[in-house]
Amino acid sequence: MKERLGKDFPAFLASYEEAPYKGLRVNTLKISPAEFSRRAPFPLGGEVADGCFYLEEEKPGADPYHFAGLYYLQEPSAMTVAPFADPCKKERVLDLCAAPGGKTTQIAAKMRGEGILIANEIDPARAKILSQNVERMGIANCAVTSAAPEKLAEKFPAYFDTVLVDAPCSGEGMFKKEPNAIPEWSEQNVARCALRQRTILDEAAKMLCAGGRLIYSTCTFAEEEDEWQIGDFLRRHPAFSLLCEKKLYPHEFRGEGHFCAVLEKNSDLNICPPPDAGEGVRPRSSGKSFPVCRNAQAERAFRAFEADFFEEPLKGALHTLLDGRMYLVPAGMPDLSGIRLLRLGVELGAFDGKLFKPAHALAMAFGGRARRKLSLSRKQCEQYLRGETLPADLPNGWCAVCVEEFPLGLGKCTDGAVKNHLPKGLRKIK
Ligand code: SAM
Repeated sequence: MKERLGKDFPAFLASYEEAPYKGLRVNTLKISPAEFSRRAPFPLGGEVADGCFYLEEEKPGADPYHFAGLYYLQEPSAMTVAPFADPCKKERVLDLCAAPGGKTTQIAAKMRGEGILIANEIDPARAKILSQNVERMGIANCAVTSAAPEKLAEKFPAYFDTVLVDAPCSGEGMFKKEPNAIPEWSEQNVARCALRQRTILDEAAKMLCAGGRLIYSTCTFAEEEDEWQIGDFLRRHPAFSLLCEKKLYPHEFRGEGHFCAVLEKNSDLNICPPPDAGEGVRPRSSGKSFPVCRNAQAERAFRAFEADFFEEPLKGALHTLLDGRMYLVPAGMPDLSGIRLLRLGVELGAFDGKLFKPAHALAMAFGGRARRKLSLSRKQCEQYLRGETLPADLPNGWCAVCVEEFPLGLGKCTDGAVKNHLPKGLRKIK
């Protein structure tokens, strides 16, 4: 770093004496940044970008607004990558290395439920956390998968308009935030990471349609993983050109540091646009659509619930598994058979042959539109989040249980008492 940064090295080194920067990004699928700033129960620092704030508070993750998915805690320099995705209508986006979901949830907010987002994470345990974050943030147009990049590339040649590779890296920008990253660093590890990134990038390249964008990022400063990696990629893939490259150092930017490169695939792959493509949709492979399974009895039960619970019916195709679990699949979802799938659109609930029981995900994505909402005080939120039953002056039936108007989960009211339906795994331990 001394060689690379020259006269800036002392400033770079001095930045390691400061506390790590923390940030919060408002989930604009649920609330506007202005409204969140007005209501925030803890101090927000200056803005990193639109809807992204610096944070001094130690534990804002324990606030009911966090459970309601109003914000995501994210390191400030990591917030600067997703804006390059800039998805348009009907766009197909793949986040190839997505857990825990910072960039996925940021891209989803920009997509506003339009188009399709595939959030993939190779590590099964991390994929579960990603899936929980997608649920908490109320994202309806996303499928969460857990597959190796090669497996996805086999299934989706020239399919996506945007592929984000937020690559596993040597993490030099994590040294303050996660001191465990320091002893793990070695020159061999940098070389290992660079090799792995090269493979991931080659697979990502196959999945992009002509005119599509490849966004590559790391949280390290090693050139082998950053500028040289991109230089090598461009030599191997003449169909791509570099649109921009950006490196954030902690002595220049109030964050832990990041590298980002944006590339475009220029080559004219002889693929016709799908017949339903709107103007401006790129030529891309059409692929098979998600094969929706229907069950008339389950759908009737769901429609009865829907008419009682919501003011207006939901949009999307109903998909019912053999075990009765039902999903709302957004238009344009591709066939994902053969790929490990953790989440598909929004899980609506389950039909047991007699009754439909709504799922937590339904509340997180659509609970704001419920007819019956139980708005809790902050003290009551704590009780709900611990799994307790609450009193309510509501008609009998399912209701969205909310902090103010923002759903935390579901409850079922019977004679003035709301039974708690927050999933056990999401409850706060007493
Ligand atoms: N994009 C995430 C976010 O914003 O929250 C952070 C991603 S993290 C930097 C990189 C991820 O790549 C890790 O979750 C890691 O498990 C995953 N990964 C590791 N090896 C991989 C591989 N060979 N192919 C794809 N992903 C891999």
